[in-house]
Amino acid sequence: MLAGRTALVTGSTSGIGLAVARALARAGARVMLNGSRPADEAESLRAGLAAETGAEIGYTRANLAQAASARELVESTIAAFGSLDILVNNAGMQHVAAVDAFPDDKWDALIALNLSSVFHTTKAALPGMQARGWGRIVNIASAHGVVASPFKAPYTASKHAVVGFSKAVALEVAEQGITCNALCPGYVRTPLIDKQVVDQAKVHNMPEDRVIREVILAAQPTKQFVEADEVAAFTVFLCSDAAKSVTGSVQLIDGGWTAR
Ligand code: NAD
Repeated sequence: MLAGRTALVTGSTSGIGLAVARALARAGARVMLNGSRPADEAESLRAGLAAETGAEIGYTRANLAQAASARELVESTIAAFGSLDILVNNAGMQHVAAVDAFPDDKWDALIALNLSSVFHTTKAALPGMQARGWGRIVNIASAHGVVASPFKAPYTASKHAVVGFSKAVALEVAEQGITCNALCPGYVRTPLIDKQVVDQAKVHNMPEDRVIREVILAAQPTKQFVEADEVAAFTVFLCSDAAKSVTGSVQLIDGGWTAR
């Protein structure tokens, strides 16, 4: 379905990003993985994914909290593959704390990664997509791009902003064969959520099993985590030609969370 396409998935060494990278590769795309680990540490992951999918897989280290690194990641992907057709902005972080206790440096780091990196990679990727008249940008936002939770004000703000950014970009490039959408998962069991379970247990002074049942999945009517592979399959659809009219949209994969 995506043979001949090239893709960059930010933050793709674990969790949702890795599942998305695998699904894009299985659909035939050449995929650049990204994470903040040195290339030698990510080599077995890269080689394993290439062997498993038969696709060309690269890895580029970049700390996306830095604007220059975000731009260079896109430039080096284009240098490696000759083009960048599909950009999946997935890298993100969470920090759970009340606003009045939220560390200033965590705010700066979270906004830099969750929001500003999406701007910098998109800005760098668009000229090539515009020149070729085809592009797909999928921004992994969150149900927190649409609704809020206490103790997550900066994360909620960053994801609402990503949703707004996605809509505005979609409008700018609507006549150029490029789509831009926000994909908003509910809770997916990944290392990011494992950390939240620990953090929320402290905030609520509860054991971790109660936090999962009564705090994390309290909002999710299915009472089940969304699978990373579900997010990946949706991303592949959004990157397909069948989704060429799906743009500026906010796609919820949230087990019914935001239906309330
Ligand atoms: P994760 O912690 O498993 O993976 C995060 C990825 O980002 C990793 O590959 C990590 O190496 C990378 N990363 C972290 N900091 C980075 C940096 N400074 N530069 C480059 N890469 C960096 O997280 P996840 O749960 O898979 O989350 C992925 C995205 O999905 C995030 O944007 C998150 O907000 C969003 N999301 C997650 C959930 C969930 O329940 N897990 C729900 C909704 C949205």
